[in-house]
Amino acid sequence: MSITANISAIKKEIGNSSVKLIAVSKTKPIESITEAYEAGQRLFGENMVQELVDKYEKLPKDIEWHLIGHLQTNKVKYIAPFIGLIHSVDSLKLLQEINKQALKNNRVIDCLLQLEIADEETKFGLDLAEAIELLRSDEFKEMKNIRICGVMGIATLTDNPKITAEEFYELGIFFQGLKDTFFRKDDAFKEISMGMSGDYKLAIEKGSTMIRLGSTIFGTRQAKSK
Ligand SMILES: *Cc1c(COP(=O)(O)O)cnc(C)c1O
Repeated sequence: MSITANISAIKKEIGNSSVKLIAVSKTKPIESITEAYEAGQRLFGENMVQELVDKYEKLPKDIEWHLIGHLQTNKVKYIAPFIGLIHSVDSLKLLQEINKQALKNNRVIDCLLQLEIADEETKFGLDLAEAIELLRSDEFKEMKNIRICGVMGIATLTDNPKITAEEFYELGIFFQGLKDTFFRKDDAFKEISMGMSGDYKLAIEKGSTMIRLGSTIFGTRQAKSK
C-alpha cells in the first residue's frame, strides 16, 4: 500500500477519537515525508537530532516536529528554535538544558516525561520515584520555559499482548498519579504517548493519546548498519 493509503487506513481506525498520529519518519527520505504531508499529515517524529534538523530545513514550516528518541544535553540547542514536542525527557539535567535553550529562543518548549515501563532494563526513562523527585525539586519549580504535557513510554518488545497490555495499563496509572499529585489544575498535562506499529491498537484501548507509527506508514526500515 502507498503511504497515502496507509495514513488514511490508520485515520479510519482511530476514528473520531482524539488520538494523535505521529508519523515516525526516521531513516525515511524527504520524498516519503512529502507524500505523507500531501496526504494531510502534519505531525512527524524523529529520533536523531541531526536528521531532524536537516529535514526541518528542507520541508514545509507548518510541520510540527517531535523528538522521540534519547536526547543528549549538548544537542538541545539545535532543535530548541523549532521543536514542537520532546517525548523523551529522562533527567532533570536534560530538562534544565531544554529550559535554558527555550529561554534563549524566547519560547516555551512542550515536553513529556519518558517513564520506564518495560520489564527489561531499558537504557532510558525515569522510574516513577525519579519522576516524582524531579517534579518535587526546587530546580523544576523554577523552570519557566518548559511545559510538561504528559508522559511517554515504550513497551517491552514481545509477542505476548498480555505483557504489553499490563505495561500500557501501568503507564496510564502513572499518568493519573502524576496528574492528581502535580498537575491537577494544569490542563496542558493530558498526553500519554504510547503505541508503535506493533502495539498501537492495544495502546489506544489502554488510553493512549498519541501513537508513534513508523513502519505501518512508511514500510519497514533498513536495519541500521553498525
Ligand atoms: C522508531 C520508533 C517508533 C516507531 O516504530 P515503528 O515500530 O516503526 O512504528 C516509535 N517510537 C519510538 C520511540 C521509536 O524510536
